Amino acid sequence: MFGCEAPGDRRIELLTRHGKKGNGLNSYWELVQARICPKCYSGDKRGNCMISAGSECSLRAFLPEIVTTINNIHSHSYQAYVEALRNNVCINCDVRRPDGTCWKREALECALDRYYPLVIETVERVKADVRNDRFVQTVS
Ligand code: SF4
Ligand code: SF4
Repeated sequence: MFGCEAPGDRRIELLTRHGKKGNGLNSYWELVQARICPKCYSGDKRGNCMISAGSECSLRAFLPEIVTTINNIHSHSYQAYVEALRNNVCINCDVRRPDGTCWKREALECALDRYYPLVIETVERVKADVRNDRFVQTVS
């Protein structure tokens, strides 16, 4: 079994209206772990990640890009989210072939691709907090 530590050292910070910093990326990751990992085909259904050694979860690897992309979308079209994620996230992924296709997507091996709707919903939940002035978000 492999741990599901919070993603790397890149940071998305959520600032309260009073300027107090929160670790925003960890907040997103905690929501991902609570909402997606227990359903994940690569997990043990209790929230623990069982992804094979040498593999990396695309949600974890690209969480900052995923969050930034979804937060910049203002559309009711699900397809708009999918296209933006493919353009902003998959483009940075070593698994992507030059023609834009991806064997992990084809084999249902990519957690981002498998759980797009849940990922979008999870990030939108935090986005709603931002919209309601509970947070101001900065990315570094
Ligand atoms: S592969 Fe699945 S269980 Fe593992 S961290 Fe990613 S979403 Fe969670
Ligand atoms: S769908 Fe493929 S290219 Fe896109 S993040 Fe997943 S593994 Fe990478």
